[in-house]
Amino acid sequence: MAPEPKPLRDIEGLLIDAGGVLYQGDEAMDGSVEALARLRKARIPFRLLTNTTRTTRTALAHKLRGFGFTVDEGEIVTPASAAIAVLRRDGARPHLLVHPDLLPDCPPEAPAPDAVLIGDAGKHFTFENMNRAFNVLIGGGKLYALGKNRFFRGSQGLELDAGPFVAALEYAAEVEAVLIGKPARDFFLAAADALTLAPQKVAMVGDDVESDVEGAIAAGLAGVLVKTGKFRDGDEARAKKGGAHVAASLASFVEEFVQASASRSAFAAAFTASRDTSSAPCRLKKP
Ligand SMILES: [Mg+2]
Repeated sequence: MAPEPKPLRDIEGLLIDAGGVLYQGDEAMDGSVEALARLRKARIPFRLLTNTTRTTRTALAHKLRGFGFTVDEGEIVTPASAAIAVLRRDGARPHLLVHPDLLPDCPPEAPAPDAVLIGDAGKHFTFENMNRAFNVLIGGGKLYALGKNRFFRGSQGLELDAGPFVAALEYAAEVEAVLIGKPARDFFLAAADALTLAPQKVAMVGDDVESDVEGAIAAGLAGVLVKTGKFRDGDEARAKKGGAHVAASLASFVEEFVQASASRSAFAAAFTASRDTSSAPCRLKKP
């Protein structure tokens, strides 16, 4: 039997995927601009969680503002920005093998590296750069990957993503990469931490049943699949089987969520009021 989805009234903050949920191609999804504004008005904390490894948070915030969203780059969590926290936690000193465009979001290159941070470096995956990374790893370094996708559809058709290069380094140095982007547990936990909420009080809203929804549920968050973007027939049944909520779009989910959240606030207010009465100092009867 499928597990029950976590009740929405128990959720206090949201992580929202960007591509396929907020926008598709060159335009915002229907109602998504208003949905984000509604969350803000209702004072529901959220972060935008995206797996982009070629665009900085500044560039993505600029793009989203172009679609009409009100969003600050500090509200965006990317694998590169999460890598800073993960590497700090592990005390790792990274050598960077990432696209130069991404450098502003990455931790700084360490003078004596004992780790490699690899992202989609595109044409910068030269022999020299791969070999430098290999030498850090063969000397005992740890490999951290911003993503491990095999390929993506770029402006020139299908293009190699970071995955094949991560696999080459894993093979050569006989190591296994620590994955930082979705669906890695650390990524969801770092984003929940950015909301200063426990993972079980956070829901991830995404259009990718595997990476967004199942990944979040495995990390202890609630999962919400929206039927936009890359959603395909069959994803709904799979999401429900895993205990996720399913909504037609971000707009329809936000509608449902804001109502659940309002009922929670009303319940909490009533509970506090009743506690105030019961905890009022007792008047002892005079003997
Ligand atoms: Mg997406």
